[in-house]
Amino acid sequence: VDNIQCRYNMISQDDVVLPKRARNTHKGDYGKLLVVAGSKNMTGAAALCAMSAIKTGCGIVKLAVPKAIQGIMQSSLREIITYGLDDKDGAFYLGSVDEVLKLANTVDAVAIGPGLTNSCDVREFVKEVILRLEKPLVLDADALNAISDSVDMIIGKDVILTPHIGEMSRLSGGSANEINDNIYETVEKFISKYKATLVLKGSRTVIGNDTEGIYINCTGNPGMATAGSGDVLTGMISSFLVQGLKEVKAAIYGVYYHGKAGDMASERYGEYGLTATNILEYIPYVMKM
Ligand code: AMP
Ligand code: MG
Repeated sequence: VDNIQCRYNMISQDDVVLPKRARNTHKGDYGKLLVVAGSKNMTGAAALCAMSAIKTGCGIVKLAVPKAIQGIMQSSLREIITYGLDDKDGAFYLGSVDEVLKLANTVDAVAIGPGLTNSCDVREFVKEVILRLEKPLVLDADALNAISDSVDMIIGKDVILTPHIGEMSRLSGGSANEINDNIYETVEKFISKYKATLVLKGSRTVIGNDTEGIYINCTGNPGMATAGSGDVLTGMISSFLVQGLKEVKAAIYGVYYHGKAGDMASERYGEYGLTATNILEYIPYVMKM
């Protein structure tokens, strides 16, 4: 019984203590992240993800987007280094892979998925990147859709997956209702089969991997059920990862502070008008010491 109790943990403020920055420090101490995101109609997902990563404290964020949208990204993101990769119809395709791998050599981890779209070309692109990449990877959104017919390919890779219930349903084959009724069984089955870190998002997000157990988050509110909210979370988890936290810890910190930023944003704006940009706006305040 003790074992079961230890395996399931509610996340509390004590679990997410931020170290004080040393006086004599520079941006190289806080990690480098590559975000691979966006397509011609979804520039915002890429911007939210990259900006949330930098606001969560990592040193350098590089953002790779299809070259059709690099101009607009560059002019709206002052703290992010942007790269326009070879594209097809304003989205990534197999021809974009080599440039991603080259950029990945210059960072500590890669986040991929927000706003990619779910075309055949994008699916091929994502799979090829995962196959050939040898860096810690955070997979979200369309990157999850891309691998849903071949999830086995993540076995043995250093991966964090951040599905909502719909994406989880595509990954696991179960219906959304089945997953909702059996959240913990779904998580346990997935992490024991694929040996990855899973962040199953919802009103009570569940985090887990095979060796470190299961963590349940209690921050957040229904106002966060809004477009772009998950893209902000991906940036935050990835940011903690390149700042040196291990996978489960990075996920715990990201999910907790994301929810807390959403809670502070909802005090200001209410749940109806709350947007992902508002969550982003409150990241610095919830992390302020
Ligand atoms: P996505 O669907 O990818 O945009 O992700 C939505 C994000 O908002 C996840 O981090 C969810 O946990 C969070 N979220 C959505 N609805 C709620 C809710 N009712 N309560 C708390 N968090 C929520
Ligand atoms: Mg999402």
